[in-house]
Amino acid sequence: MYAFDTLEMLELAEASLVKKAENPKTPQGEVRDIQSRLHECRRHLRMKREDKFRKESGISVRGSDDYIGAGAGDYSFYYGYEVTYCPVKSHKNGSLCGEKDCEKEEWCFTADKDGKEIARYRTSELTIGHEEVDQMLILGMAKFIKENMK
Ligand SMILES: [Zn+2]
Repeated sequence: MYAFDTLEMLELAEASLVKKAENPKTPQGEVRDIQSRLHECRRHLRMKREDKFRKESGISVRGSDDYIGAGAGDYSFYYGYEVTYCPVKSHKNGSLCGEKDCEKEEWCFTADKDGKEIARYRTSELTIGHEEVDQMLILGMAKFIKENMK
């Protein structure tokens, strides 16, 4: 019910729910319902504020177990399963490695500017260890900075 509300509407809804919950005249039976609506309202408020922050600051991060991406103005950075490399020519850069039970496939880091790829590093170019995806993203960004900020 709050998903399409503006930040201002959510702030008003929050204030009104708090007022109702704190009013001694509000029946106890209703207070629990108000608390759960308040919880939901605050969750949406938090998402809206995060959204606003991402837009205004131009920086963002999103990810999961198997990928991570970060935005920095016109630049974006990615590491994960969606971009792979395989040295075996017939595996067509990783797209057939799954079918062939290939162990040579590597996930890649990419840097984009204005939606165009400007750098790509294989996992083995970033580490000889086994790092988590967030650390791989940082390593990719570190290599990108090292090579481009001279
Ligand atoms: Zn392969």
